[in-house]
Amino acid sequence: MDKNDGSVIEAETGYKRMSGEVRLRDRKVGVEVNYFHGLRDRGWAEHVLSLLCDALPLLEKVSGLPYPRDYGVRIYEATAEDVGRNDGENREREGIWIKPQAFDSYIVHETAHCFTDISDESWIMEGSADIYTYIVLQRMNKPRDAGGVKGSAFAEYYKYLKFEEDFPLDGWDPMTAEVKRAYYGYGKAFIFMHMLYKKYGIGVIGGVNRNLHKRGVKASSGGYKLALEEVTGKNMDDLFSGWIFPGEYKVMPDDVKPVGKYAGSDLNRKILQKVFEKF
Ligand SMILES: [Zn+2]
Repeated sequence: MDKNDGSVIEAETGYKRMSGEVRLRDRKVGVEVNYFHGLRDRGWAEHVLSLLCDALPLLEKVSGLPYPRDYGVRIYEATAEDVGRNDGENREREGIWIKPQAFDSYIVHETAHCFTDISDESWIMEGSADIYTYIVLQRMNKPRDAGGVKGSAFAEYYKYLKFEEDFPLDGWDPMTAEVKRAYYGYGKAFIFMHMLYKKYGIGVIGGVNRNLHKRGVKASSGGYKLALEEVTGKNMDDLFSGWIFPGEYKVMPDDVKPVGKYAGSDLNRKILQKVFEKF
């Protein structure tokens, strides 16, 4: 990380700006944090800048993709007027807007979206951003933050399973879905990606990303499955059934193992019996 000392400048917008540069595999990427006047805001900006300088090289490594954008990472301190009830959002060229109370995992998640352009399927983008965040936080020696990412994904998933409103993730859109389905989808997408990670390792997820990146088209759910089959040499029909495409569940994560044959709501009941012992 190269922090430009004395780079705090007064921006026309009323923000102050702190900037630096991160050395990635093939290039240097500029990082800036725009923050409000005030001691606490300055402390926040320093924290975010150093978090990003540590997280970006790891995000590049974990996603398997070189930093893909032709502009740097620009963070803006946000208020409720900017982002509403959310803690932040990635507006691509217009920067990443983050409330100062947002968790580190939230900041890393939004930054991880710089590496999720391989698809416009929400489960691929959100599941990837969350699994990268989970692994990057672990590698940054922040096991509690990493645990929070996994724990809240599983908690959302189980919380909504009890309504027996499970649905396959293909076509899920958290922007238009009702809140309940939006949260459920995030949880389910993480659990699916976590299952891929446990079964095949992060190297395979990176391989899928590179495979898709080379093709230069946004992957559909089917395209992602094909790339995964190419990289692993295995048929993925069973794995995607129930999770991504409609059908019976044939593969479950190791963390949760219902017994016997199950489908749809039956699966839910069996999982729930196990799960409520845990949460
Ligand atoms: Zn996201």
